[in-house]
Amino acid sequence: MAIDATQPYDDDNIFAKILRGEIPNKTVYEDEHVLAFYDINPQAPQHILVIPKGKYVSWDDFSARASESDIAGFVRGVGHVAREAGMVEPGYRLLANIGQDGHQEVPHLHVHIFAGKPLGPMLAKG
Ligand code: 5GP
Repeated sequence: MAIDATQPYDDDNIFAKILRGEIPNKTVYEDEHVLAFYDINPQAPQHILVIPKGKYVSWDDFSARASESDIAGFVRGVGHVAREAGMVEPGYRLLANIGQDGHQEVPHLHVHIFAGKPLGPMLAKG
């Protein structure tokens, strides 16, 4: 179910539990700013989620409230993960879903990285 991205941060969301180590994940990369792990329900041969360690509901919340250091750390973290996974030469796709119409399901900012095959046009029509 899609969330309302204008709501306050919920400490019980699934990615908060992953960050606290309460739920296992297959970690790809971690540093002081980000955690990257494989999506549990991959939509491409390679499907990695990158999340900031700070408490941000969505891209909107993050872009409005995060410090310059958190923003730089997150953007560099996403790029680092894709480079280390060998995705730059074949190419990859970044996606952030925000709120109801964006069909965001987990209320902690995450960027999806998709790769591993030609991904086709960006959006299904309709
Ligand atoms: P959203 O629709 O919010 O952009 O995407 C949420 C993503 O989180 C989905 O692709 C879903 O498969 C993934 N996801 C949900 N719960 C878990 C989990 O417990 N572990 C992992 N690794 N991914 C999850």
